[in-house]
Order: sequence, then C-alpha cells, then structure tokens
Amino acid sequence: MRVLEPLIGLVKGLWVTLRSMFEKPVTTQYPEQKKPVKNRFRGRHVLKRYENGLEKCIGCALCAAACPADAIFVESSENSDETRFSPGERYASTYEINMLRCIYCGFCEDACPTEAIVLGDQYELSFTDRRQAIYPKEMLIESVPVKGQPTPQKTSPGEFTRSVPVMKDPQD
Ligand code: SF4
Ligand code: SF4
Repeated sequence: MRVLEPLIGLVKGLWVTLRSMFEKPVTTQYPEQKKPVKNRFRGRHVLKRYENGLEKCIGCALCAAACPADAIFVESSENSDETRFSPGERYASTYEINMLRCIYCGFCEDACPTEAIVLGDQYELSFTDRRQAIYPKEMLIESVPVKGQPTPQKTSPGEFTRSVPVMKDPQD
C-alpha cells in the first residue's frame, strides 16, 4: 500500500489542476481592467474647485501644519477681483505634496476649512526619480467643471469676499 502513496498524491494534485482549469479565472487583467476601490479608500490627493471653477483652496496652510510627515508645502498670494483664483483674500500660488513622505493618514483632509483637499481614488502613483515624486498644484487640481471658468477669473467687486462663499448647495 505504501508503494501506491506517491501515485495517489500525484493523482490528487493532477485532479486539483484539472478542476481549476474549468473554474472562472480570478485574475484581474490590470491595467486594462481596474477594480473599483472601497468607499473609504485613500488615494492620491485632489484639490477641488467650486462649480463656477474657482479653487476651494485658500492657501491657509492648515493642511501643511497638520501633516505629520511634513509632506505639504504651501505658498499663498493675494487675490483681487481682477485676478481671482479662489474666494476670499488669498489663494495657493504654490501647492506641493511630496508623495515619498505621505503616509495617506488623511489629516490634511480633516484640517482643511474649505474641503479643498481630498484623498481621491487614484492609486496609480509611479515615478522614476525623487523630483517626480513631488506633485505640484497643476497635477493635483481637478479640471474645470462644465459650467465653470478656468482660474484666474475676473469677478464683480464684493462678490467673493468670504473664503467660503455663501452657496445654495455647499457641495457646489
Ligand atoms: S495624507 Fe497625511 S501624510 Fe499625506 S499629505 Fe495628508 S496629512 Fe500629510
Ligand atoms: S488645502 Fe485646505 S488647509 Fe490646505 S492650504 Fe488649501 S485651504 Fe488651507
């Protein structure tokens, strides 16, 4: 009987192989196929805009202060009604995140008073040198909404004096 044991083992192994040949494959053909991420997934940051195209970021740097990895660098400049990037006095003229430092904790998102920075569903982050790992504002900011205008915009005097504008729908 002990002589047959290796043969039985071989047949069992072949049976597992044969059975799996007829099962539905579980492999995802990435990158052609992408699996949807979970609701609470934290991916690459996105800087949001209002529906009219103005940037939500007001350059306050609270996100940078909250970041435990010192990954965010913000420089702000003054808005004017002639050259307006965001509601209120100031906007982020420089906004950079060092993706090599980021630990995706979401503290920046929590600290932001205007809900300008959010961790989105983008997970395809690759770079070939350290400089490429620093994502500038141009990469982070979302595209202009269909009904919006690109920034800077010319706005009416007194229309956007508050950093968080009064809007019917705060999600705009
Ligand atoms: S997710 Fe965390 S570590 Fe990354 S930039 Fe935001 S606060 Fe910093
Ligand atoms: S993303 Fe938010 S917290 Fe950071 S500078 Fe802009 S408005 Fe301030």
